[in-house]
Amino acid sequence: MWKNRRRIVALLGGAAVLLLPFLRIRGRSAARFDLPTLSLHFFGAVVPIDEFYLVLWGALFLVSLTLWVTVVFGRLWCGWLCPQTVIGEIGEWIASALPPGFRSGGKTLVLLPFSAVVSLSLLWYFVPPAEATRDLFRSPILLGFFLAQWGVIYIMVAVVGPRFCKTACPYAMLQNVLADRETLAVAYDPARAECLLCDRCTRFCPVGIDIRKGGQRECVACAACIDACREVTSRRNVAPFIAYRGTVLRGKAYLFAGGCLAAALVLLAALWSRPDVRFAVQWEGKAGTPQGNLYRYSVRNDSDRPVALALSVERPARLLDNPEVAVPSRGRVTGTVTVKGEDGTPGEILITAAGPGFRFVRKAAFP
Ligand code: SF4
Ligand code: SF4
Repeated sequence: MWKNRRRIVALLGGAAVLLLPFLRIRGRSAARFDLPTLSLHFFGAVVPIDEFYLVLWGALFLVSLTLWVTVVFGRLWCGWLCPQTVIGEIGEWIASALPPGFRSGGKTLVLLPFSAVVSLSLLWYFVPPAEATRDLFRSPILLGFFLAQWGVIYIMVAVVGPRFCKTACPYAMLQNVLADRETLAVAYDPARAECLLCDRCTRFCPVGIDIRKGGQRECVACAACIDACREVTSRRNVAPFIAYRGTVLRGKAYLFAGGCLAAALVLLAALWSRPDVRFAVQWEGKAGTPQGNLYRYSVRNDSDRPVALALSVERPARLLDNPEVAVPSRGRVTGTVTVKGEDGTPGEILITAAGPGFRFVRKAAFP
């Protein structure tokens, strides 16, 4: 039965969303936009907010992934993985253990604490899980976000439900534009005239459509109608009149998959080619000594270990200050140094910062 497979997928998807913030890679959460440090933690990589140009590459990858999945698999996301569907599905599953007369009200009740857990887990994507849970009732901001999310999630899954999928979901509209004749979809086989006209497919459809009238944009590809049909056709030893139809392996699918792969490679290359240590320097003003100039430097260390650098200048100039700079892990150090010219000629100088495995040379004015 597709229903059981869908529930397994829903459980795995739900568990992944709940547990991902607890997964630690290189000592950090696998997926979190860390509010205290304003940086994105993503499977071991740390992207500070001033490097959010990388998010553009991430967005490009997500767009190409969405295009590929939509063109090939249609609304499979909607029926199998969309949080709107998954939360409702799990609520229905839990309520199915209740006596038949209490199931509908039971589902509405079960969704109340379940939506609260989902709302709390969303906070874990911004504040470390232990901290968010501990401070939930101490921080008015955390509590406000938690309650607002809880309300929205509960209304979406318990009150609005599949009506959203049917009328307002923007992804459904995108699907209308991208789907073609070979996109995977649930379809009735009109060539088989022996349909039993039992109407079970329509009764079990969560969005209330009759798939026998042909493919419709409201269909979320959940396969509930296939299961309903199979229950009656299996008694007669015939295949269900409804099934998933479409062609997954085809030219267009390879084309979109190639685009998706290229975007993923660009994103990974941009992520992993970032330097760990950066050095910048600029002229600050004249120093109090004859032929002296003051320079402001900045060293940023994006690695997980502290680094030590030594500053130096090329002759005919010399550094009057301590050339040693220590930068803690994931820290930034700024400071000034005074450079004295030895031959009295204005122009430009080269300031060098060197440490284990790196060497930066920056040109600066020497007025
Ligand atoms: S027609 Fe079938 S697959 Fe489509 S939404 Fe209804 S039950 Fe789900
Ligand atoms: S459930 Fe199957 S047999 Fe019954 S009406 Fe629908 S398509 Fe026909």
